[in-house]
Amino acid sequence: MAEYPNRIVVIGAGPVGLCLSLALAQADLKVCLIEALGDDNFLEQVPRAGTNHPATLEMYERLGLYDKLEPRGIIAPVFHYWDRHDGKLIAAFDHASLKADTHFPYVLQCERIKIVEEALKMAKAHPNIDLRLKTEFVSFAQGSDGVTTRVINPAGEEETIEGRYIVSAEGARSIVRKELGIAFEGFTYDDRTLNIEVAYDFTKHGYAHRNYISDPVEWSNLFHWKGPPDRWRVHFPTDPKANEAELMRPEALQARLQKFLPTGKPFEIVGSNLYVVHQRVADKFRAGRAILAGDSAHVNSPIGAMGMNSGIHDAINLADKLIAMARGEADDSALDRYARQRRHVAVAHTQAQTIRNKRLLAEQDAAVRRRNQDELRRTAEDPELARKFLLRTALFESLREADAIA
Ligand SMILES: Cc1cc2nc3c(=O)[nH]c(=O)nc-3n(C[C@H](O)[C@H](O)[C@H](O)COP(=O)(O)OP(=O)(O)OC[C@H]3O[C@@H](n4cnc5c(N)ncnc54)[C@H](O)[C@@H]3O)c2cc1C
Repeated sequence: MAEYPNRIVVIGAGPVGLCLSLALAQADLKVCLIEALGDDNFLEQVPRAGTNHPATLEMYERLGLYDKLEPRGIIAPVFHYWDRHDGKLIAAFDHASLKADTHFPYVLQCERIKIVEEALKMAKAHPNIDLRLKTEFVSFAQGSDGVTTRVINPAGEEETIEGRYIVSAEGARSIVRKELGIAFEGFTYDDRTLNIEVAYDFTKHGYAHRNYISDPVEWSNLFHWKGPPDRWRVHFPTDPKANEAELMRPEALQARLQKFLPTGKPFEIVGSNLYVVHQRVADKFRAGRAILAGDSAHVNSPIGAMGMNSGIHDAINLADKLIAMARGEADDSALDRYARQRRHVAVAHTQAQTIRNKRLLAEQDAAVRRRNQDELRRTAEDPELARKFLLRTALFESLREADAIA
């Protein structure tokens, strides 16, 4: 029987597939990276994720990606919790508290689309990456020594691509996960989130580049992105029974924004969309030679900015295991450790924290709300408590906990 080529087949050139491919290629492993989008439409994707935590910035630095992203983003050392009901700033957290823990004491506000654009350029230039754009992954089969994937190539023909392992970085609708029959358990929130993008300088009103705003009626998030033109994303929950066309009417969007910040003048709206939020984790992150990473393994609410960040942490963890195996420093059981470590993070950190974040913003009970706010204020004002809090929100704690898992 012919040998399988000594390479890893990665499905999906999103942030996770690209970071994984770069890390493997830079350690001299061969990669075949398959992506359904092509040069003609790759940059037409919605910007999506955008807050990059310090731990992730360290990983971008290792890949040589950080220097390309910093000029395209906004350095944001501070983030705020506001109370919309009382119009008050509750707490300001400054990543300067992490100066002893990282040389990135800030988050970088830089959207997913910019990350994949820069990472794709690097992947195109790397001789160890066989990049197949405009190629749709359809199915796969695995044997004891390798995997065979079936794709539709740019000419519309069916082709098979073989390798030693397949990594599903195809996002939440992962075909690999479905083919393996791996359950994706969790729940979907009833209320869809409305995202309105506005060209307006909210810093004039005391907001930081990143703000979490609690309110028993209509919580929101407010984030700043670098242009031109600079944009701010405002998120609102919506009534599950509301009609989508009605919600998205320009007058309805303006009315919501004016209720949020009455300026008396129409806001310049540069984009809007409505999205459904899922909280789900795959039952298993590995089945033989197939491994799940990123959204294909876990999805969560964007409150707290943990989806893409934790997906990239999956990618780097997995890359290190595959590199150690290729160098003969580890056997195949390293992949089980990857699955144990990263599934633990998905359940105990990403899911738990994002569910808590949403509950905190939407809390209805006035006494509980006050208690939560007092605690946030106390935490932000005490340097040691603030550091601990930031180690968790900046995802260092999840990495340290994962490291301790055998
Ligand atoms: C509004 C919004 C805001 C968010 N904000 C944040 C944030 O601030 N911070 C954060 O950490 N996360 C955030 N997230 C989540 C984040 O966008 C995702 O977690 C992240 O993009 C997942 O990366 P991924 O590479 O796993 O998958 P994806 O980004 O979904 O990429 C998957 C890739 O696979 C390709 N693909 C899919 N199917 C196939 C196929 N059959 N064949 C070939 N290619 C295929 C796709 O074209 C795509 O390029 C946000 C999400 C939303 C919706």
